[in-house]
This record gives sequence, C-alpha cells and structure tokens, in this order.
Amino acid sequence: MSHSEKPEENIKPTNFIENIINEDLQQGKNDGAVMTRFPPEPNGYLHVGHAKSICLNFGIAAQYHGNCNLRFDDTNPAKESDEFAKAIQADIEWLGFKWNAKIRHASDYFENLYQYAIELIEKNLAFVDELSADEMREYRGSLTEPGKNSPFRDRPIAESLDLFTRMRAGEFADGKLALRAKIDMSSPNIKMRDPVIYRIKRMHHIRTGDAWPIYPMYDFTHCTSDAIEGITHSLCTLEFEDHRPLYDWVIDNISIDTHPQQIEFSRLNLAYTITSKRKLTQLVDEEVVGGWDDPRMPTLSGMRRRGYPPQAIRDFVELTGVTKKNHVVDMALLEFSVREILNKQAARTMAVLRPLKLVIENYPKDKTELLQAPKHPQDESMGKRTVPFSKVLYIDEEDFREEANKKFKRLVLGKEVRLRNSYVIRCDEVIKNDSGEITEVRCHYDADTLGKNPPDRKVKGVIHWVSAEHSVAAKVRVYDRLFTTANPAAEGNFLDCVNANSLCEYSNARVEPSMLDAKPEQRFQFEREGYFVADKVEFTPQNIVFNMIVGLRDTWAKIEQN
Ligand code: ATP
Ligand code: MG
Repeated sequence: MSHSEKPEENIKPTNFIENIINEDLQQGKNDGAVMTRFPPEPNGYLHVGHAKSICLNFGIAAQYHGNCNLRFDDTNPAKESDEFAKAIQADIEWLGFKWNAKIRHASDYFENLYQYAIELIEKNLAFVDELSADEMREYRGSLTEPGKNSPFRDRPIAESLDLFTRMRAGEFADGKLALRAKIDMSSPNIKMRDPVIYRIKRMHHIRTGDAWPIYPMYDFTHCTSDAIEGITHSLCTLEFEDHRPLYDWVIDNISIDTHPQQIEFSRLNLAYTITSKRKLTQLVDEEVVGGWDDPRMPTLSGMRRRGYPPQAIRDFVELTGVTKKNHVVDMALLEFSVREILNKQAARTMAVLRPLKLVIENYPKDKTELLQAPKHPQDESMGKRTVPFSKVLYIDEEDFREEANKKFKRLVLGKEVRLRNSYVIRCDEVIKNDSGEITEVRCHYDADTLGKNPPDRKVKGVIHWVSAEHSVAAKVRVYDRLFTTANPAAEGNFLDCVNANSLCEYSNARVEPSMLDAKPEQRFQFEREGYFVADKVEFTPQNIVFNMIVGLRDTWAKIEQN
C-alpha cells in the first residue's frame, strides 16, 4: 500500500527523546551524528527492564542512521563475571540488535581515566582524602544539612598527586585513601558534595587482571567513557537524574572535546515481577527457580526459553512508550504482544495434557486413516499436517462430563461432539475403576461427518484428541505467575510471595506424531490449549518437552479484577 493511501499509519507521534534529538539535528549539533550506547554491568543476566533500554538505545541509533555501542560497565570486579558478559551478548543478539563494531569495556579506558583524574588533581579539582568511609558519611551532611569540608581537602596539589600515584602503585590497603572531586560540600545535590571518584580495591579484574589496585567510580567512569566513544545522547533511567550535574561537571573539567548529553527516561516496571538484578540473583542462588533461564524468570533468557518471540518483546517495549513518568505495566500487555505474533506464526497441532482413553466402538480395529489438517486455519501457505485417526483415541479429561449443562460445549454422556479435524462422535458409556474414577469412555462415530456437518442436526462443541497408538508421549509444563502479589518488591521479603504453584508439569501428555520433527525453540498452538514451545534445552525426539508460552486468551484481566 502506498504512503498516500494510508497516511495515518505513517504518522507516529515522537517521544520526548526523539524531540530532543530532532532539535539537536536541526541546530547542527554533533555534526548531525547520533551515537548511543547500552552499558550493562556484567553482574547478572538481562531482564525485561533492560530490554527497554536496549530497544531504546539501539532503536534510536537505527532510526537516525547512527550507531549504538555495547559497553560493559566493568568497574566493580567483585560481582562481575565472564559468564554474565557472554549471556548479555547472546541476549542482545537474540533480541535482534547488532552493536557497533567491537564490544567495548569501561576497563578499556582505565589508563585514560587515570590520566583525567591526574588532570583534575593538577587543576586543583580533586584531592586524595584520608577520611574513612564512616567519617566521609558523617561529613557529607544530609538532605537538610550541608556537609563539611574534609580536613584533607586543601592539601597541596603535589601531595595529592604523590598519594594518587602511590595508590595506583598498590602501596595502600583497600579503603585507606580515596580520590575525591573538589566541588561543593554545601551543594543541595548530595552527589555534588565532593564525590569519591577513585577507590582502592586490590582485586582481580576479569579483563585487566591485577593491573589496577584502584577502580574508578560509576559517576566518573560513565561520562568519560561516553565522551571517549563520542556518544551524543546518553540515555539512562530516571534514578540518574541527580547524577547529571556531576556527569556534566566531569566532562566540563577534563580535556575532551565532546560533550554527550545525558537524558533520563522512566524504568520499565512489570506487575507481578521483579526487575532487580540483586533479587533475581537471589531467586537463582536459593534455587527458587531452575536457573537464570527458567521460563518463569523475567530475564531475556527466561523469556526466550518460555518461547516469547523476540519481536513480541520489541513490540511490547514499543507499546509501553518512552516517558519520564514512573509507572507499572500490566503483564497482559506483554502477553498481548506475544499472542499477536503467535496467532499469525504458530502452526496448529493437537496435544492432550490429561489423557482420557476414548474407544470408538463402531470403528474397525485395525484401521488407520491419515487425515489431513491445516497447519493454520487462515494461512494455507503453511501447508498441512497428517493426523492419524484410529479406534482408540485420547481426549482431555476436562473435556468430558457425565452430566453437564448447555454451557459445557464438550463431550457429555449420551451427547454428541465434533472431534477437531475429524468426525462427530456420541458418547454411549463410561467405564470406571474400583475407586469410581473414569478410566475410559466408549463412543460411536458418524462416518458421514468428516469435514461436513450432519444434515439433520446441529452439533455444537469441538474437542481435540490424538490417536492412542500413533501419538507420542510428552512432558508439558504450564506456568503461572511467579509471584502472588502485584508488587513483590514492596513486600518485607519478596521470597514470601513466591507462588508455590507457578509450575505444573503434565508428564503423561500425548502429542501428534508430527511433533517428533519439531526442533527446540519451535512454537506451536496446541489447539484449544494455548501456545507452546519445544524446550530449548531439553527437547529431543526421545524426550519431548514443551513449555507453555501463553494461553489463548487473557487470564490476567481476571486476576487484576479479583
Ligand atoms: P544495577 O546497576 O543495580 O546492577 P541495573 O538494572 O541498573 O542494575 P545495569 O547493567 O547497570 O543494571 O543496566 C544497564 C542499563 O539498563 C542501564 O542503562 C539501566 O539504566 C538500564 N535499565 C536497567 N533496568 C531498567 C528498567 N527496569 N527499565 C529501563 N531500563 C533499565
Ligand atoms: Mg546500573
């Protein structure tokens, strides 16, 4: 369709960050360049909140024909690891983004940063402090009280230079000295009260090894790294708003000719979920979940294993918009985005999670019909699948009742129902075991109803089924929300509101034989049940394991109402 025919689809309102960039471009700022970065700390796996930052940073770069760097913010060696760094790269690629050229690390710039620190000392804008951490806290003041100058603040430049050189040479113990910016102890912004910019930490680093006994602090590292890389717009979350004056102060006072602009946007918060790396780490460490990629986790690797298409996550992030207002997004929106895609893309198949044996008494014992069923009811191009039909079938326990009212449009004793993609059957008899449990139902089929309705009567319900002999055994995992409250982070101990029933495994499920050809991560619609994915890790033709991605309809709206 041409642009003029459907103008409304081409007018997308711009968000406030795009407005800033458009204005910058109009004024010829940064020679028309747009350069962003995504700066994860390799101390955990990425979660749905990070997806927002990734989509925003990489998306803005693509939209303005610029570039987005991936830069590991690796200045805290205590918690960082290569496993996390590798997982972060894999997740970004899976989400569908490509970083600019090589991966960068804040640690690549340790030498540059060290020189900038010396420059600040030489300009009398930084000094080596001997106060202990506790004393520094005391001197810092509070929101209502100004701070006090450190007694070491006015030491000669040469003395600070000497001490800083010796800090770098590893002469002092951890925490003994610190390099602080000399700004203003009475600033209303506590971040500006002579912030520490270097600390002593004699610790092995995943990249620089034992080369550095001192490490730069976030506020000194981030802005300088941005400037070194020629970042034009440094997009970060709202909690960094009061760091911005410090960001600008550092850039203004070192010799570098670019000045990136920090712009803050609100975090993505999802109801019934946590997006704190510390708490997610706890869930993994305390084995509340099976790992970082447990399908119940809000991590990108968890959502991948759950079967969410990466595009659904991108669409979801787009729907949440970019603003400066903090808000909590409903899980239903994420699931809506997932369904939108899967409804179009997922091939249909039948799976019986709770098998109940069904015998068709008037069907020949040794006969098998290879019925053809469309893989997608609206998309013929997806082709057909072969579904074997025979005398003994399985249906789902929940699709049968001895007695039921009209609302139950499934199989009822003495009544008719259509078997999806095949015939109409009538239930004649129920077989029970000694404890009264239904073990089998006996039916008759109407041979003249394959692909057509009986001329003389209306059959309302449709249920799914598989052939007992031809179907294959499968494990099917169905998930519920991981937490029982909308805001688990607000609870005293968030672990207390973990949903004990968040995982339900059907270990005797039966699936169509065509599932033997499925590949890990392939997604299907189990007709009448929902969308399911062949497990990325465990699925093999000998071990058929499916994870439920999402149900066919929104169940969250109901949860919210209650
Ligand atoms: P922490 O720093 O506490 O370990 P973090 O979530 O800030 O956790 P980072 O690795 O520093 O983790 O995050 C990388 C980027 O992702 C940052 O720019 C951060 O602002 C952004 N980000 C993190 N959480 C969210 C969120 N919920 N919504 C949007 N962006 C987020
Ligand atoms: Mg952070």
